[in-house]
Amino acid sequence: MAKLRVAGIVTESVVDGPGIRYTVFTQGCRHHCKGCHNPQTHDFSGGYEVDTDDLLEELIQDPLIQGVTFSGGDPFEQPAPLADLAAKVHKAGRDVMAYTGYTFEQLLERGEREPSVMDLLRQTDVLIDGRFVLELLDYDLRFRGSSNQRVIDVPQSLATGRVVTFEFE
Ligand code: SF4
Repeated sequence: MAKLRVAGIVTESVVDGPGIRYTVFTQGCRHHCKGCHNPQTHDFSGGYEVDTDDLLEELIQDPLIQGVTFSGGDPFEQPAPLADLAAKVHKAGRDVMAYTGYTFEQLLERGEREPSVMDLLRQTDVLIDGRFVLELLDYDLRFRGSSNQRVIDVPQSLATGRVVTFEFE
């Protein structure tokens, strides 16, 4: 059980990754990207608090859900409760995808000081990294907004020590 501050939940999303997904929009983001679609998620004291075990219970009851997507806000501002939830999602046989305004390299650096950041990275299958850059907006990109953002295979990247990109089928 862990407390998490969220902006909202979408219980069956088809736009936040492959398959039908349970999407958690976390509250709190310090990146303030120009053209951000979710400015209401920036305030760290906004949104509302949930118990991650309640989210888990809800999502595992739906057999159609392939996995969970952590969006935002920036999920990596609340790595501890999300790492706990992601580990339980994996135990339940579902996958985990996460968005972040940080680059993968910045998260690795933070992870040296903040173990929970590494915990969440280790529980993430696919990471879409980097800030949204309005000038690089491209509507043809799948599951990401601007072309600077990468779709990263996190287990492979951690295992090999270099960024390995992930291709959606
Ligand atoms: S990282 Fe995402 S939520 Fe945060 S300001 Fe940028 S686009 Fe908005």
